[in-house]
Amino acid sequence: MSIPDLAALHALGPAQQPTYPDRGAVDGAVARLRTAPPLVFAGECDDLKTKIAAVARGEAFLLQGGDCAETFAGVTADNVRNKLRVLLQMAVVLTYAASVPVVKVGRIAGQYAKPRSSDLETRDGVTLPAYRGDAVNGFDFTPESRVPDPQRLVDVYNSSAATLNLVRAFVTGGYADLRQVHTWNTDFVRESPVGQRYEQIAGEIERALTFMQAIGADPDEFHRVDFHSSHEALVLEYEHAMTRVDSRTNTPYDVSGHFVWIGERTRQLDNAHVELLSHIRNPIGVKLGPTTTPDDALALAAKLNPENEPGRLTFITRFGAGKIRDGLPHLVEKVNAAGVEVAWVCDPMHGNTFEASSGYKTRRFDDVIEEVQGFFDVHRSLGTWPGGVHVELTGDDVTECVGGGEELLEADLGGRYESVCDPRLNRVQSLELAFLVAEMLRK
Ligand code: PEP
Ligand code: MN
Repeated sequence: MSIPDLAALHALGPAQQPTYPDRGAVDGAVARLRTAPPLVFAGECDDLKTKIAAVARGEAFLLQGGDCAETFAGVTADNVRNKLRVLLQMAVVLTYAASVPVVKVGRIAGQYAKPRSSDLETRDGVTLPAYRGDAVNGFDFTPESRVPDPQRLVDVYNSSAATLNLVRAFVTGGYADLRQVHTWNTDFVRESPVGQRYEQIAGEIERALTFMQAIGADPDEFHRVDFHSSHEALVLEYEHAMTRVDSRTNTPYDVSGHFVWIGERTRQLDNAHVELLSHIRNPIGVKLGPTTTPDDALALAAKLNPENEPGRLTFITRFGAGKIRDGLPHLVEKVNAAGVEVAWVCDPMHGNTFEASSGYKTRRFDDVIEEVQGFFDVHRSLGTWPGGVHVELTGDDVTECVGGGEELLEADLGGRYESVCDPRLNRVQSLELAFLVAEMLRK
């Protein structure tokens, strides 16, 4: 299968692309990226595809999480380690509760470009281009910083490489040791008032591990984990430059990440993002919001996975807590009835964003949980498998989403609001979510 021309993709009029002032500089950055080594291998993408096929069959659960928008400044050992740690902690709890493998995918090492609802941002009477992620322009609210700079695409590559290198070292170098991860969980349960609710399940995991130790079981899997990278494939220059024909199979892969997805705002059937991703062989996702009709979903599946390859396609639904119970059933029913192979994953974040009176963009922890509960209930009533969750989170104690056991209030948001885009669950809220989803999985 061939790779479509970049110019042909642009001719389709794709949404959410930067308007670069200097095309020559864009060509230079793209040329640089085309010769850069792959960040991931095609074979690794195939492994993930096999794992997602198990998710689609109901034999595994997907945990996908990380920042809404990574930043170049956020590429530090502490930041990457904290995110990874909370994801590993969540994964242990979910694995125990689900009794199936948990496929671990970070929104990490590439999540630098953002679609925006408006091209412009106005503050105190001053209007500038919107921030589109570090991949495109700067977050500072100045005219210079907001000019799209193609050199940033090369910075995305370098930042992703540094992040992925560290992640790979952590997950294979002892940091992901099951005993250690479990100890972090028991610390959370013991030390935080929020954690105490989850004493029982942590105790059960403790006994299971002690039993394994007693019988002398010490498999390799106790000491290392498989972890995968993912991001929204948004800026066509970058994703196209990172798409290469794999010499093993002679087919194209986007080697910028293991899993890439198409956002809610760029999933138009006849446009460039769907076209480009229809040509790559990675496992891919599509975000589906509440306006998605069953015919939209079927058409996307036909275009993106014409051979109905297991594990190739994940539908990430993001309806909102108030809409999922009414909106999701007919979508799942029709897609399922058509025999479409798909993993269903719940993004309980993007349908639940609102602006607090203080002006901060936020989400209520209860709405997030309610959407996941709705997702489980809908799938259970239809006999389909609630395949996983896709969340925006951080390993730090930020104050971006309200509620949760710490009862964060709107008035607290200013304390430590660090996201440059959407509000993320903090460390405690993320662990709480994992324990609550664990309870849903066990029912
Ligand atoms: C996101 O995942 O950050 C995002 C913008 O999501 P969506 O495309 O679902 O709005
Ligand atoms: Mn987001």
